[in-house]
Amino acid sequence: MTLLDGVIARLLPAVPRPVVQLFSARYIAGATLDDAVRAVEALNGEGKLATIDVLGEEITHEDEARAIAKAYRDVFEAIRLGGLDANVSVKLTALGLDLSYDLCRENLIDVVRLAASHGNFVRIDMEDSSTTDDTMRLYRELREAGHDNLGIVLQAYLRRTLDDVRSLIDLKPNVRLCKGIYVEPPSLAFTDVEAVRANYVRSLDALLDGGAYVGVATHDEWLIGEALRRIEARRLERGVYEFQMLLGVRESRATELVAAGHRLRVYVPYGEQWYGYSLRRLQENPAMAGTIARATVGRAFGRL
Ligand SMILES: Cc1cc2nc3c(=O)[nH]c(=O)nc-3n(C[C@H](O)[C@H](O)[C@H](O)COP(=O)(O)OP(=O)(O)OC[C@H]3O[C@@H](n4cnc5c(N)ncnc54)[C@H](O)[C@@H]3O)c2cc1C
Repeated sequence: MTLLDGVIARLLPAVPRPVVQLFSARYIAGATLDDAVRAVEALNGEGKLATIDVLGEEITHEDEARAIAKAYRDVFEAIRLGGLDANVSVKLTALGLDLSYDLCRENLIDVVRLAASHGNFVRIDMEDSSTTDDTMRLYRELREAGHDNLGIVLQAYLRRTLDDVRSLIDLKPNVRLCKGIYVEPPSLAFTDVEAVRANYVRSLDALLDGGAYVGVATHDEWLIGEALRRIEARRLERGVYEFQMLLGVRESRATELVAAGHRLRVYVPYGEQWYGYSLRRLQENPAMAGTIARATVGRAFGRL
């Protein structure tokens, strides 16, 4: 990343929404469930699995949270009708966590029950550190209540993550392990790239040793290599791990992993509320931020 691009990445929130939308189109299936279905059909056709996310993290009313929970009803129906190989990912703030823990719990249970009735699975995405405790608590509560079709995400950039792995391991959890994308203070999160990688590998080892199902969610070639080495050394069966990537990122690498016989799941977000998700994706693609800056300047001069 050049210094200029890094600055631009931080300035992205000031970029006009139409420009953000234009450049983030590759990361989002579209505005409608039909768009998501088409994206998943294409992925399934390439031997890739999917997880569908209904975008909706900017909600401020109880009704909106319930509407998101209901939207998952349509998603499960679409998965069934289309014979799609996909599960779902949910954000607790979309289900109302910022409004009330109990509302969120109720909505999550609805989605998880619905998933179970379809023989399907729900992954709780991990959001910023203000939500980590509640997310961990809710995951444990639901698992202890017998909802086994539920997974969680842990973020390797958080200093607490290895402790979180240890605290969950008795549940034989299904964990997506990622680096983490939210802006966190150094007191809570490693900021050095190598420290994040090291914590990722330590957490991955602890998860695999503890018998967790692991979703190795990264596009980082170094980490993919470390994961592959561990899979081979432990002679892991296909059924106890998978790789995960985001829609629109490193697609040919994903195809290679599938060709090599690994399960590979792609995160497929769709919906009207694309803005927050798009900003995060563009922020971690600084080369794209540079392109956006040029486009923004071009637009200001009437060339876009
Ligand atoms: C399936 C999945 C689910 C996730 N769920 C969560 C979650 O619940 N909570 C959370 O905090 N984070 C989540 N993330 C995001 C994650 O935390 C990282 O921010 C993101 O994956 C980038 O980290 P990386 O490991 O890919 O490494 P990086 O070092 O960021 O990326 C490695 C390489 O991948 C390519 N790349 C990465 N991102 C982009 C991009 N946007 N555009 C173009 N190229 C790119 C670049 O070539 C880059 O050099 C998820 C990621 C994945 C793959």
